[in-house]
Amino acid sequence: GSQQKVEANILLLGAENVGKSALTVRFLTRRFIGEYGDIESIYNHSDKIDGREISFNIWDSLYPQDCDSVEMVSDKQLQWADGVILVYSICDHASFEVTRRQVQFIRHAKKAFAGVPVVIVGNKRDLQHQRAVSSEEGRLLALSTDCGFFEISAAENYHGVLLVFHELLELIREARALK
Ligand code: GDP
Ligand code: MG
Repeated sequence: GSQQKVEANILLLGAENVGKSALTVRFLTRRFIGEYGDIESIYNHSDKIDGREISFNIWDSLYPQDCDSVEMVSDKQLQWADGVILVYSICDHASFEVTRRQVQFIRHAKKAFAGVPVVIVGNKRDLQHQRAVSSEEGRLLALSTDCGFFEISAAENYHGVLLVFHELLELIREARALK
C-alpha cells in the first residue's frame, strides 16, 4: 500500500536534572555522553518502525526558573505536542511531585489538550541504592491519570528508551484513530 510518512511531535517535560536531555540524546544517537548543559531545542529524528517511516520532532524543554508560574505547561507546548513524556528521577522525590503536578495540569487542561497521550518515565533506575520513589508510586500515578509508565536508565539501557518512544507512538496512533 501507500507508505505515507507519519509525523509525531513529542514534548519532554520534567524537573531539572532528571535526564530529559540524556533520554533525548540516547534516542537520537544511541549514546549516553554524561553532560548535556541547559539547552532547549527541538530535534528531528526519522526512524522506520514496523515498516513505516516515522518523523519524530522532539522538544527537549527546560524547567521554567520562575517557579511562581502556576501554569505548569504552556498552551504553546500543548498545542504543539502530539504526545508528552513526563520524566522524573527515581532518586529525587521532589521531581516526582513535579511530574504529578504536570500530569494533573494536563489532564485538567482545556478539552482539546486534556486527552493528549502521555508516558510517565522514572529515570535513573541504575541508581537503586539512592531510590526515593517506589515503582508502585510511579505505576499508581500513571494508572490514575491514564498514562503509560516505564522505569528506565538512560545511562545504562538503550532498549528502555526505545520502548518509551514506541509506546508513546502507539498511544498517538490510537488517539488519531479515534478522531
Ligand atoms: P535534564 O536537566 O532533565 O535535561 O537532565 P540531563 O539529561 O542533563 O541529566 C542530568 C544529570 O543526570 C546528568 O549528569 C546526567 O549524566 C545524569 N543522568 C541522566 N540520566 C541518567 C541515568 O539514567 N542514570 C544516571 N546515573 N545518571 C543519569
Ligand atoms: Mg536538559
